[in-house]
Amino acid sequence: MSVSSTKYIGFDYLIALANAAKLRARVPIILHLDHGPDFDFVMKAIRAGFDSVMYDGSEHPLEENIATTRRVVEAAHAAGVSVEGEIGRIGGTEDEVSVDEREAMLARVDEAERFARETGIDAIAPALGTAHGMYKGRPEIAFDRLEAIHKRTGLPVVLHGGSGVPEEDIRRAIALGVGKINVNTESQVEFSRVVRKTLEEKPDLYDSRKYLGPAREAIKEIIRAKIRLFGSHNRF
Ligand SMILES: [Zn+2]
Repeated sequence: MSVSSTKYIGFDYLIALANAAKLRARVPIILHLDHGPDFDFVMKAIRAGFDSVMYDGSEHPLEENIATTRRVVEAAHAAGVSVEGEIGRIGGTEDEVSVDEREAMLARVDEAERFARETGIDAIAPALGTAHGMYKGRPEIAFDRLEAIHKRTGLPVVLHGGSGVPEEDIRRAIALGVGKINVNTESQVEFSRVVRKTLEEKPDLYDSRKYLGPAREAIKEIIRAKIRLFGSHNRF
């Protein structure tokens, strides 16, 4: 759950929704905060009942990122909540970056190792060349760094910006140590496409269930395919 979505829904409704989903679902559900911006917001999420949090201190100098992430880990672990940390800069697909800039944004292996060791995080999100949003071209994943970071930290690697990464690259990334993949954009695009199509075909519709329902079914198909592609089916 992104910070903006969390604020949009509100902690009270979000936790109630997640609890209802956990009771109904036949698979484990983890309510996870994506890109927690600061210590205080992450603490609010933990107090509200999130199962897992990300603190993203990647825009700060390494020392500061380590110090804050470590404080988050101490508080989160005391509450039984797992923590994801970020290192390097994961940008957006809309950002204009040169080849040199792109290289500079990637996580460094030695820094990732130190970051993991000194913070005690449970999962690491290193910048590996993927980006948030819709890709214009094919994203280039730095597979060598991914493999080295997984081996040197011993942690599951989190791949952000998973929407639009070719299937063979997803499989290769998983084989090299990716344990969590963030996908969102594809679902949003499909949801909106189906709402638009339904309303164009039946412009007189006014019952929101009649156009939101088909869109929800379309998202289910996308997520079903992702679960299979990621090799997560029949695991529980
Ligand atoms: Zn992300």
